[in-house]
Amino acid sequence: MNHTLKKIKQSIQGEISVSEEDIEYYSTDGGVFELTPNAIVFPVDANDVTELVKTVASMNERGGDKLSITARGNGTDQGGGPLNTGLIVDFTKHMNHILEIGDDFVLVEPGCRYGHLQAQLKKRGRFIPSYPASVEVSTIGGAVANNAAGEKTVKYGSTRDYVEALQVVLSNGETVWVHANTLEEVNTKKSTASLESKIYSQIQELLNGNIDTIHNDHPNTTKESAGYALWKAQTQGGGINLAQIVTGSQGTLCLVTAIRLKTIPLPKNIVLAVSYFDSLEKAGNAAMKLHELEPSALEIVDKNLLELVSQHKPELLEGLLPETMPAIVLLTEFDDAQNEIRSSKLGRAQSVFDELAFESIVKQDPDEQAKLWKLRRSAAAVMWTIPGSKKALPIIEDGTVPPDRLVDFLHRAYQIFEKHNLEIAVWGHAGDADLHMQPFMDLSTEADRKKLFEVTDDFYAMVAELGGTAAGEHNDSLMRAPYRAQMFSPAMEDLFNQVKHIFDPDNLFNPHKKVGVDFNYVKQHLRHEYSIKSLEHMKRQQAQDAIDK
Ligand SMILES: Cc1cc2nc3c(=O)[nH]c(=O)nc-3n(C[C@H](O)[C@H](O)[C@H](O)COP(=O)(O)OP(=O)(O)OC[C@H]3O[C@@H](n4cnc5c(N)ncnc54)[C@H](O)[C@@H]3O)c2cc1C
Repeated sequence: MNHTLKKIKQSIQGEISVSEEDIEYYSTDGGVFELTPNAIVFPVDANDVTELVKTVASMNERGGDKLSITARGNGTDQGGGPLNTGLIVDFTKHMNHILEIGDDFVLVEPGCRYGHLQAQLKKRGRFIPSYPASVEVSTIGGAVANNAAGEKTVKYGSTRDYVEALQVVLSNGETVWVHANTLEEVNTKKSTASLESKIYSQIQELLNGNIDTIHNDHPNTTKESAGYALWKAQTQGGGINLAQIVTGSQGTLCLVTAIRLKTIPLPKNIVLAVSYFDSLEKAGNAAMKLHELEPSALEIVDKNLLELVSQHKPELLEGLLPETMPAIVLLTEFDDAQNEIRSSKLGRAQSVFDELAFESIVKQDPDEQAKLWKLRRSAAAVMWTIPGSKKALPIIEDGTVPPDRLVDFLHRAYQIFEKHNLEIAVWGHAGDADLHMQPFMDLSTEADRKKLFEVTDDFYAMVAELGGTAAGEHNDSLMRAPYRAQMFSPAMEDLFNQVKHIFDPDNLFNPHKKVGVDFNYVKQHLRHEYSIKSLEHMKRQQAQDAIDK
């Protein structure tokens, strides 16, 4: 291995690390799995990535132990996406620059921290609305690779809706830009002798030959980050947008080295309403009615989460809750630019609250709103700081069902928690019926390690029955990939396998993710303790940056 790594080092300008500390750090992410890499590579630019891929691909071709290449942003993935054996490519050390900010777009390297990018855009009155809750601690590359989404997705869509073009390094080291191409452009690309040309030919054939499967055989949810988004890849007139297949592909098809994203104006006037409900049914009915008003956010927090926070960090909820503990709280936000539209929507929302909620508050002032958002944002963060050997585990944290099944989803999830005697709290995106739930379990005990998969079996079977997807925004990773076959047809699963083979025939990039992953493999890599080292690492880095400044 030393000889191989030496050869790789000679081909790039960046560094390679095999230090014990790095190997340990890169062995985990925000999820419950652990895989030990051989080495970590820190490329300085796209050329380095190209050279790295060419070198590894040609060494693998010559035989011997094959090395894989897995991209990593900040490692906040909740399901094992950036974990692997082989080489981990960390884009955050050098490839973290904003290259250009235009009037309505931004060109950025993948390792740029998303929160930093948003702050720079904000200075120009713009933003990317599909940001995840982890915006301050994750990268833009990770958001593209996962097709991340968040509180504003209900109105503004997911990351894929903002991806205009991606510079990618293919599995033979070719570097190309992918974006929407017309049929004529596709035909020109198909005429060269390159891997890019082969990919366009084979993907075109796959798209044209499987129209019904591609458009019918996937869950009917408002957000989706599972599989490869073939249903988004065909453009008008028979053109192809490969950027749509790469977005959400978790580094299994190619490595992303530059990203061009659309930006939109930051809303100037926002109104936030918080409503308190005494039953699931009333909250669910309200959510459906509020959804019709096209809010810019429609978020949900349940009683269990509020009680947990009250128990462990009561100061966070001070002055935010009514006297009676609600069963469900909804946060509804409208950001329409025209005052009359905003007021009219708020009026209609107020009628919904009058009918179904037992109390509601409306705030126009941004500082007051920030305080109310704590109900949703800080509450979730508290989950990770609760002391004890049982930790809130991200194992069923991204199930998403058609919006009109929200109440059934909640009822059936609570039944599963009861069956398995689980302490659990629920929060998430009511508008998209995408619920985050993290049961408290102890990974060091055999009993909980066994129970974990009994819970996931029950949960994902229930999500499939409701017509939902296992991954609305957190992607397949290791945790969810084996369950995906319950939500997509065998024909669609076969197409996913074909896509992987077309882009990456030698399985160089992030093997055992998305495709080629089974329960045996997943179970072998379960951790024995849980913490999110990447969040601790990030906090240390930020503190160091502040001192250096
Ligand atoms: C507290 C918390 C809250 C979260 N909230 C949300 C949320 O609201 N919405 C949401 O969608 N997610 C959320 N997540 C999950 C995660 O933070 C996001 O998906 C995030 O976008 C991942 O970014 P990252 O930089 O950490 O990527 P990583 O975890 O490092 O990587 C994620 C995936 O992207 C691939 N990848 C990274 N860079 C590249 C590249 N350059 N080329 C190719 N592939 C690449 C990796 O191989 C991996 O498969 C949350 C996580 C935590 C811990």
